[in-house]
Amino acid sequence: SDDATSLVEIPPPKIRFTKLFIGGEFVDSVSGRTFETIDPRTGETIARVSEGDKEDIDLAVGAARRAFDHGPWPRLPGAARAKIMHKFADLIDQHIEELATLDSLNAGKLFAWGKAIDIPSVANTLRYYAGAADKIHGEVLKMSRELHAYTLREPVGVVGHIIPWNFPSTMFFMKVSPALAAGCTMVVKPAEQTPLSALFYAHLAKEAGVPDGVINVVNGFGPTAGAALASHMDVDKVSFTGSTEVGRKVMQAAATSNLKPVSLELGGKSPLLIFDDADVEKAADLALLGILYNKGEVCVASSRVFVQEGIYDEFVKTLAVKAKDWVVGDPFNPKSRLGPQVDKNQYEKILAYIEHGKREGATLLTGGKPAAKKGYYIQPTVFTDVTEDMKIVKDEIFGPVMALMKFTTMEEGIKAANNTRYGLAAGIVTKSLDTANTVARSIRAGVIWINCYFAFDNDCPYGGYKSSGFERDLGLEALHKYLQVKSVVTPLYNSPW
Ligand code: ADP
Repeated sequence: SDDATSLVEIPPPKIRFTKLFIGGEFVDSVSGRTFETIDPRTGETIARVSEGDKEDIDLAVGAARRAFDHGPWPRLPGAARAKIMHKFADLIDQHIEELATLDSLNAGKLFAWGKAIDIPSVANTLRYYAGAADKIHGEVLKMSRELHAYTLREPVGVVGHIIPWNFPSTMFFMKVSPALAAGCTMVVKPAEQTPLSALFYAHLAKEAGVPDGVINVVNGFGPTAGAALASHMDVDKVSFTGSTEVGRKVMQAAATSNLKPVSLELGGKSPLLIFDDADVEKAADLALLGILYNKGEVCVASSRVFVQEGIYDEFVKTLAVKAKDWVVGDPFNPKSRLGPQVDKNQYEKILAYIEHGKREGATLLTGGKPAAKKGYYIQPTVFTDVTEDMKIVKDEIFGPVMALMKFTTMEEGIKAANNTRYGLAAGIVTKSLDTANTVARSIRAGVIWINCYFAFDNDCPYGGYKSSGFERDLGLEALHKYLQVKSVVTPLYNSPW
């Protein structure tokens, strides 16, 4: 893997946008401060970006408020919003390479996958919700008395989106697209590790005809810019994706300010249950994909793998061989399947967990070390001899680290899978329909994948049970979190009113 991690020379990237985007204009931050953004392949600075703080959040929320209270966006017919959203999607399609380059440079994401999957998919997310923009309606109610009533579904207002760094583009559009379709206006606070592509999207939104103030982007840090958004008195809803720890702070800030509703998509420690009747080769492929895709920086990663005892030994052998196919390398090298972790913090945190696992007595089947001398590369790591009380089984590591365990009966497997404070996703590998259906209903998690993993689609809502959060992203469920219901009641002609 030394080979693959050597730096791939790419044409000097065009980093066109580094300021804040407020009220349809790129502007400096009020303080004039900027912060560095780095390339995780080298740890070197690639750009300085305007650093927003409370004052900038105030300006951005003000712009969004005016656009909501007086601007055209919430008042347009849904079809007119849809037309602009389609144009926005088409503009993304015209800039796929440039956008994929920004996310690869900034987050260590594989360029080939960004180009083939991440960026084209975000354009499709916009199109999916554009299709819903003119199909938002309430109901006519049959009241018990002489009354006529109906419900309206109205946009919730000014939305604050606080997003993480692992999928900078996907997260941006998972939040922004349904909110746009609903007729909301918004302020996006991207993660401080990945400030670049969001600014590009703001530029494209303007070019597509999204009115000024509808989408504002304020880069900055969590405890300053993020906290200011969560506690703002004029923000009507906050949609957050990130850690459980920060989710709790966001909910507190919402509660102690204006009681804005929040939606939270938080951490996970998702189980993958592999039964005796599974095809071992296929199961090993799924288990590796589930923990190594995007170098394990995925909230739904299958970080706890439970294998039934009849195939356990064979599975372990197969997994160890197949893990070698996951080449760690420069994200611009087409051979690479794992790029560098996003930054030094994350890199050190993952290595500390690996050390902890070793100290607790788990056995390294593969990996366990940095994968290069330079940059934040880590080897695909699989631990066996793991017990459920270990920290590597309880905590979300957010890196390429799998904990592999054995189970005997289905009941025991279900119990072990549910033995976590999280409940984001789960996977099941079996040929038995009875097993699949029983386990799917028994696991307390928001998404269950049977004989597949990461089978995402715009149509399919996802989000958490338990401490993994509440409300859903994607699907029509997500449209509804940016709408609220108003009931309108009036007496009929012969009513006693
Ligand atoms: P991760 O652990 O994946 O880095 P975080 O939960 O730390 O995720 O960050 C997710 C997002 O939340 C980022 O945009 C970050 O800046 C923001 N954030 C961090 N702390 C706070 C806070 N106290 N209030 C609001 N947002 C925050």
